Amino acid sequence: MFDESLHEGCGIFGVFNNPQAAHLTYLGLYALQHRGQESSGIAVAGPQRISMYKGMGLVSQVFKRQQRIEQLAGSSSIGHNRYSTTGSSTLTNAQPIVINCRAGQIAGAHNGNLTNADTLRKRMVDDGSIFTSTTDTEVIMHLIARSKRNSIDAMLLDALSEVKGAFSIVFLTGDALYGARDPYGIRPLIIGKCEESYFLSSETCAFDLVGAEMIREVKPGEMVRIDRNSLTSFTIPAFEQASRLSHCVFEFIYFSRPDSFVFGKNVDRVRRKLGRQLAAEHPVPNADVVMGVPDSATTAALGFSEASGVRFDIGLIRNHYIGRTFIHPVQEARDFGVRIKFNPVKGVLKNKCVVIVDDSIVRGTTMKKIIRLIRTAEPAEIHLRISSPPIICPCFYGIDMPTKEELIATSQDVEEIRKYLEVDTLGYLSIEGMLSVMPGPKENFCAACFNGEYPIAL
Ligand code: SF4
Repeated sequence: MFDESLHEGCGIFGVFNNPQAAHLTYLGLYALQHRGQESSGIAVAGPQRISMYKGMGLVSQVFKRQQRIEQLAGSSSIGHNRYSTTGSSTLTNAQPIVINCRAGQIAGAHNGNLTNADTLRKRMVDDGSIFTSTTDTEVIMHLIARSKRNSIDAMLLDALSEVKGAFSIVFLTGDALYGARDPYGIRPLIIGKCEESYFLSSETCAFDLVGAEMIREVKPGEMVRIDRNSLTSFTIPAFEQASRLSHCVFEFIYFSRPDSFVFGKNVDRVRRKLGRQLAAEHPVPNADVVMGVPDSATTAALGFSEASGVRFDIGLIRNHYIGRTFIHPVQEARDFGVRIKFNPVKGVLKNKCVVIVDDSIVRGTTMKKIIRLIRTAEPAEIHLRISSPPIICPCFYGIDMPTKEELIATSQDVEEIRKYLEVDTLGYLSIEGMLSVMPGPKENFCAACFNGEYPIAL
C-alpha cells in the first residue's frame, strides 16, 4: 500500500515470565512497526511496581539508548505502537497507560476503536472523572478503576463488558498478563509460547523474532489471564452479544505482514489469492509485465502473475531509509515526496505493457503521483489493478481513514477515477471476489468500508 492517507491503528505485544521481558517486547514492537509509527511504549512489572517508558516516533528512535530498556527491569511487560485513530498525535496519547487503582497498578495497551467511547467518557466526566488523554484506552482504564468488583479479573471483565466496538487489548498487573478481544473478533490477538514464557501479539511475525511458537488466538469475546500457575480463559459478559464474527478484511488486504498468521490463516496465502482473483476478474491479455507497488502490494502482484502467466518484475524501487528527510516546500509541490521514496526501473518498464497492482486507493492523490512517476520510465501502456473493492465508507473500528467526502470512490465512478489517474485501464476486485477468498464464511468478515454494512452499530 502506498497511499499515505491510510494507516493502521496500533500494534500490541506482551511477555510473561521472562527475565528479558522489556528487550523481547522491544523486539516484538520492532516486528509490529508497520502497525503504527507515531509513538511507542513499554511497561514492565518489576518486583515493586510497574515502570514505563514511552515516546514519540519509531520503536528504534524511542528506545535508541539501550539504557532505556535496561532500566525497565522485570519479568513481564506489555508494549504498544501507535498510529492515532482517536485522539491527537501527542505524548499524552501514547500507550501503554498505567493507572493506580483500588486493585493496585494496572497497565493497558489497546488496538481498535470503541464506538461508545464518547458516551462513556461524557458520563464519567459529568461524574467528576479527570482524563489526561483523548484515547479510548483511558476510557477503559477508568472503567476498570470504577468497577465495584472484588478481584482484578472481575474488574477487567466488568470494564470490558461496558465497551462497544473493536478492541484487542493487553493488560499487565504485578503478577499476571491479560489479553482480550471484542466479541466480533475485529482485530487479531494471538497467544505464543517459548519454554516457560508466554507472549501476546497483534501478529505472529513478532513471535518469529523472539523465538516463540503460536499456540492459538485469543478467541472473540474471550479474556485470558496468564500467571505463574496457568493460562485461564474467561468469557467477557458482553454489553451487546455479537450476532456474528466480523474479522477486518483489511488485515488480509494490507495491514498485516504477509509472514503473519491472523484469523487462523497465513496472510501471504490470502493476499496471493486476492491477486489471483483480481487476474480472473480483470485480465490484461496483452500485458508484458506485472509489478506491485512496494511493499504491501507485492504479494498480490505475485498472485496476479501466477494466475495470468504474465511475468512478475520489480518496476519500482522503494528507498526504505528516508526517515524524516527534509523536503523543501518548493520540491514538495513538484511531487518530490513520492520521488524521494520511489524510483521506476526504466529497463523493466520502457515500451512495455505494464500491469501495476496496488492493494487499495483511498484519496487517489498519491496514486496519481506514482503513476506520473512511472510514466517517466516510458511504458507503452499502464493497466492499474486494485486487489480490493472501491473504498466508499470510513472505518470506525480502529483504522485511520479520511472522511467519506475525501474518499475518491464516494464521488467518482471507476471510469472517472481512471481518467483522474491517467491510466489506460483500471480494475478493482469485486466485493464478492474479495470475500470468496477470505478464510471462512463471508459472514465472518467486516467489509464495511466497501459496502457500508457496519457490523456494530455506530
Ligand atoms: S470498516 Fe474496513 S477497515 Fe474497518 S474493520 Fe471493517 S473492513 Fe476493516
